[in-house]
Amino acid sequence: MDSLESFRQEIQSWLEQNCPVSQRQLREGEEAVPWGSPQFGEEAQQWLDRCAAKGFTCPSWPKEYGGGGLSKEQERVLRQEIGTIGAQVPGGSFGTHMLGPVLLELGSHEQKLRFLPDIAAGRTVWAQGYSEPGAGSDLAGLQTRAVRNGDEYVINGSKIWTTGANNADWMFCLVRTDPEAAKHDGISFILFNLKSPGVTISPIELISGASEFCEVFFEDVRAKAENLIGEKNKGWAIAKRLLQFERTMISGFGAGPGGKRSGKKKRVAKVYRAMADMALQYQPQKDGKLANVTLRDQLTQNEMDTICFTLSTKRAGEEAKAGAGPGHTASMFKWYATELNKRRQELIMTSLGSKALGWEGEGFEPHELAQTRAWLRSKGNSIEGGTSEVQMNVIAKRVLGLPD
Ligand SMILES: Cc1cc2nc3c(=O)[nH]c(=O)nc-3n(C[C@H](O)[C@H](O)[C@H](O)COP(=O)(O)OP(=O)(O)OC[C@H]3O[C@@H](n4cnc5c(N)ncnc54)[C@H](O)[C@@H]3O)c2cc1C
Repeated sequence: MDSLESFRQEIQSWLEQNCPVSQRQLREGEEAVPWGSPQFGEEAQQWLDRCAAKGFTCPSWPKEYGGGGLSKEQERVLRQEIGTIGAQVPGGSFGTHMLGPVLLELGSHEQKLRFLPDIAAGRTVWAQGYSEPGAGSDLAGLQTRAVRNGDEYVINGSKIWTTGANNADWMFCLVRTDPEAAKHDGISFILFNLKSPGVTISPIELISGASEFCEVFFEDVRAKAENLIGEKNKGWAIAKRLLQFERTMISGFGAGPGGKRSGKKKRVAKVYRAMADMALQYQPQKDGKLANVTLRDQLTQNEMDTICFTLSTKRAGEEAKAGAGPGHTASMFKWYATELNKRRQELIMTSLGSKALGWEGEGFEPHELAQTRAWLRSKGNSIEGGTSEVQMNVIAKRVLGLPD
């Protein structure tokens, strides 16, 4: 037996003994309750703690920083086996998927030791302080300022659309440290505790009634100078690198049925079978098939597109293993995955007919109500992490080399 096969067996028996049954039953398309949210349950915490103790929350990070020290092949086996039992790698967050990889590449050894083990163990929830009222797509137009004062920076300004800031402990933040410099040259990347004096967090109520986002205001907030990542005024390169990780996370190599777990081919087939069965249940049939030929075509096209996307991400994954992680192709995947997911959600809504129009109350099944919200949520997919239009610009300039 080769060593990877014996590793697989080791993992299988570890999972058998350590993954609580409640964590194995996620339905297709269902996300685990995010760590840090009030709904995060006792067994979810147990699953997180057990994985963290083995370094399995961040399997390929070095052990000294709280990871599992696994090779990419071993990580793949681990993820496959976790997927096979219907569970997810717990603790996935802005920390594990965005800040962590950036710190591993660009942080000092002390910064890695200070922050990474807490991220891997799920002890700190991170928020992303990028967007401002006048700086979204034009991110480098940000105005939040940080001024050095002894061994601290004093921060003033505000951020907006900060996902989960009301549940977060720390923020990774873009600040302007040289207002005289050219737009991209005076920005720094700094970390600070969101519980610091001078931070005000104000949830933004959305049309759904939820408050996923916050406005965050800073009034003379003090951040330790040692928590500045990289060089002062050179934060733009770090910001862009983090966006590549973010876009990779959003694309799932991700959104949609192909991305999150292993056994992708089977999973895609299962998801589309379930979509077709649902359409058959809600829509008129002719000869045991959907009578609506257009809907049939669209479902088939969407499945084929998803299979192609899944194969492309697999190939890119192999290439990334050999190289330096995600590059500008992250924009291609982000754009395609989120647009594909939006089309998929539209199709499910069409299939459900008037049953897709429920918001709350009687007359609708829970999965029908959940679908309406999933459809609305998918609209944000192509905005967060940079809009589709901005991804197209990156692809045109950085991938295809077209002129400005
Ligand atoms: C679900 C969700 C979660 C988010 N979470 C966070 C978070 O945690 N932290 C954070 O910092 N931000 C977050 N954001 C904010 C997000 O990054 C911004 O909304 C996004 O960058 C777009 O910026 P904007 O909203 O200011 O739109 P604008 O930049 O004002 O864009 C408006 C429209 O103009 C288009 N446009 C702008 N410039 C160009 C151009 N050069 N070429 C072509 N079209 C253009 C855009 O594509 C868009 O359609 C989140 C957003 C969403 C939807």
